[in-house]
Amino acid sequence: MCGIVGVSGAADAARLVFMGLYALQHRGQESVGISAVNDDGYARLSRRGGLAAEAFSDEDLDTLPGSLSLGHTRYSTAGGAGLVNSQPIVVSYREGDLGLVHNGNITNAGLLRTELVEEGALFQGTIDSEVIVHLIARSRCPSVEEQITEALSRLTGAFSVIITVGQTLYAARDPWGYRPLCLGRFPDGGWMAASESCALDLVGATFVRDIEPGEMIRIRGHELTSLKSIDSNAPRQHCIFELVYFTRPDSRVWGQSVDRARRAFGRQLAREQPAEADIVFSVPDSSNSAALGYAEESGIPYELGLIRNHYVGRTFIHPTQQGRDFRVRIKYNAVREVLEGQRVVVVDDSLVRGTTSMGLIRLIREAGAAEVHFRISSPPVRYPCFYGIDMPTREELIGARLTVEEIRQRLNVDSLGYLSLEGMVDAVSESGPFCHACFSGEYVAPLLDLEHGLEVPTTC
Ligand code: AMP
Repeated sequence: MCGIVGVSGAADAARLVFMGLYALQHRGQESVGISAVNDDGYARLSRRGGLAAEAFSDEDLDTLPGSLSLGHTRYSTAGGAGLVNSQPIVVSYREGDLGLVHNGNITNAGLLRTELVEEGALFQGTIDSEVIVHLIARSRCPSVEEQITEALSRLTGAFSVIITVGQTLYAARDPWGYRPLCLGRFPDGGWMAASESCALDLVGATFVRDIEPGEMIRIRGHELTSLKSIDSNAPRQHCIFELVYFTRPDSRVWGQSVDRARRAFGRQLAREQPAEADIVFSVPDSSNSAALGYAEESGIPYELGLIRNHYVGRTFIHPTQQGRDFRVRIKYNAVREVLEGQRVVVVDDSLVRGTTSMGLIRLIREAGAAEVHFRISSPPVRYPCFYGIDMPTREELIGARLTVEEIRQRLNVDSLGYLSLEGMVDAVSESGPFCHACFSGEYVAPLLDLEHGLEVPTTC
């Protein structure tokens, strides 16, 4: 769960990257970093804790000149926070300064790290991304392209990466295609690669296409080349949870508008899990589009029953449970005038621990709702994610511990209905095939560290 951006061939690239990170803030709120390569090929780096807008002033960006720049906004699992694990990683390399940003979770990073450490490699932090830099540096291949390709070919799991070497930018996705990464163009010919297309919109870059799974592109100034794919017969595994929850609805991911995908989930949910009710509303903002879809399909009027305080970050994006509970209470309020005496359908995008929902249902009942029908626009989350979405352990997942009826009782709702796995996948079938391991337990890319009993390194 991170956001990455790279810009090549545009004046003041670090400012454009900064704006891109602003748009990708929802993908990580713990730290933010920007590197920029000046015309001399020397990379400057600045990494700070917190949000992009607070971390970087105009003056800070003045210290990052150049037309080539990388940026990263980070969300980490507990224990991995701290600037030593933030990105970009910048190192001095035999081919020039090397910068790297990574989104995803490499499932054999522990094994590779052990091997590298035995060979004498020194690591600064605990993130899996550092392994990539070492593999590139140790490659004996003749060209930089081949060194990067060889390094990436040794990885299993999820990685969308943007790398700068000297004045050249490379962007690549893992062969399964777990995490998104798209390409945009500025009117004057420069390029931008970003986790989501909403970052391109903000800086006036036009969406060109997604970078393909297993593809690596090279950009020198304005010139773009698509290079040999990372060698693999891996089946496509686009993360469906990106569509369910994580990406912004104004983004396009895998040829699909995220808003349209969520509306399709909501419509399918209304067909599978109808309810006798007077109004439908969402848990703002991540389920707005799904609730609209539910209302469209069911014909039940859409209302604004819950109001979100926008000055509080995402509930989940906080490393401690105590912080999470506190944030639920201050994040939402119910609109009594809308709810009083009404039979309500509440649509949420996912049920993970159940903490948010329990607090919300209490609020909704206290505001006078006559009946509460809770609908979830995805199946029960039953398994942890090892490919870069931060999910709690199995024991903490309410869907892994309790049956749907037990969850209904625990939440104190009149009815509870989830979208089926088949219904969810069919609703967005043109963007698949998908990874739905968090719902199905089907892990396709090998989980090598786990199989070897190694602790899964800090993800990004
Ligand atoms: P809870 O069931 O209380 O654990 O939280 C579920 C809510 O958190 C959902 O409504 C989602 O909007 C949001 N959510 C789901 N998965 C994640 C995640 N991996 N990271 C952050 N927020 C999430």
